[in-house]
Amino acid sequence: MYWEKDIETMPRDRIETLQSGLLRDTVRLAALSPFYGKKFRDAGIDPAGFDGLRSKEKLPFTTKDDLREHWPYGFLAVSRDELVRMHSSSGTTGRATVVFHTAHDIGQWTNLVARCMYMAGVRKGDVFQNIMTYGLFTGGLGFHYGAERIGALVIPAGAGNSKRQIQLMRDFDTTVIHIIPSYALHLYSFFEEMNLLPSRDTRVRIAFIGAEPHSERTRKKIEELYGFKAFNSYGLSEMNGPGVAFECPEQNGLHIWEDNFLAEIVDPDTLKPVADGSEGELVLTSLRRTGMPLLRYRTKDLTRIITGDCPCGRTHRRIERITGRTDDMLIIKGVNIFPIQIEKKLMEIPGVGNDFLIVLEREGYNDRMTVKVEVGQDFFDGDVLHLEKLRRRITEDLRSDILITPQVELMAPNSLPKTEGKAVRVVDNRKD
Ligand code: ADP
Ligand code: ZN
Repeated sequence: MYWEKDIETMPRDRIETLQSGLLRDTVRLAALSPFYGKKFRDAGIDPAGFDGLRSKEKLPFTTKDDLREHWPYGFLAVSRDELVRMHSSSGTTGRATVVFHTAHDIGQWTNLVARCMYMAGVRKGDVFQNIMTYGLFTGGLGFHYGAERIGALVIPAGAGNSKRQIQLMRDFDTTVIHIIPSYALHLYSFFEEMNLLPSRDTRVRIAFIGAEPHSERTRKKIEELYGFKAFNSYGLSEMNGPGVAFECPEQNGLHIWEDNFLAEIVDPDTLKPVADGSEGELVLTSLRRTGMPLLRYRTKDLTRIITGDCPCGRTHRRIERITGRTDDMLIIKGVNIFPIQIEKKLMEIPGVGNDFLIVLEREGYNDRMTVKVEVGQDFFDGDVLHLEKLRRRITEDLRSDILITPQVELMAPNSLPKTEGKAVRVVDNRKD
């Protein structure tokens, strides 16, 4: 049931002692990098005298812009010949940032991903199809190595090529997959086209879904369509990639592996810690990385700590599924809206299909928001009156939730543009 019982169920006071020692080591190591060396000098921090967890708030924050400005090698704490791997972020919000790993870092990361997969029930003997982009994106190789560490048979399928994915699942009796949630919904339409039912015609029992925000309703929908269990996987390239926080069999929040990461939740405006249980921005410090340690990295992801013990017995704190990135927030007619709010509402409405797109336009001084919504095939083939009723219901439900009235356009199934990577939810044409 546990990959490393001692670590996963370690009492809280021991976790904190461990973190304190690791933080001291990390600060000393980070001081060797050009970026933190200068930061510490400027802030008068003496790395040799740094006394651990209780002084964490004295450490500087690190942002994606810092990584961009000191690109590519400004954060290295070791010489370049110690490095064995480079990865990059997806570039969702601007120029992609790069992260470098030593052999030790890759070993740690691999073990973390193995711990996550094992927690969800993956074992030696499983056939794991990794439907993720390989290459610079961390989702591919991160899971690949983790699954091999467990001893599963790995099919490095990569993303896209939907019919071939289904063929691979069927030919090799795939039991576990890793897939982006928006792509899982899209892939289902290929099962339909091929007159196949995943629950009947494949043996997949576990899926890992992550890399992009998705609501609980979307997870349920994926689980219902496929007949497997879908576990939420959270990570970011700056903290290795997948393996930072992960759902256990309780599927109620994601355990952050606190023997590897120090997690804080702060108010994104004041940068002060919020009370446990309140929403804020997740800030992470790597505790075991040697090539490129990062201190108090502002993820821009919004979440909260779930208070209370988890029935699974693991003592590492849980975070709520990510509700969005501060960067994703749209300001429309002065109202703050996250795309995930729209997704959540849409997924509750029967007749709504598997994809949507928000298009923003400016007319004079006014913002106009159009939500293009794919409808389910049955609805699409049905009565036009029903379609009009559906359109009105979507408009009304969204209005009551986000407090502005969007233009709703119903679209044929599969007609919106698809990507193999993270879904594009917003097209903002308001730029002046
Ligand atoms: P980029 O930051 O350019 O998107 P990454 O590939 O490093 O590049 O993606 C990390 C980000 O992806 C996270 O900071 C978060 O915003 C998002 N993300 C990853 N996993 C999840 C998840 N399970 N739920 C919600 N968002 C996620
Ligand atoms: Zn748990």
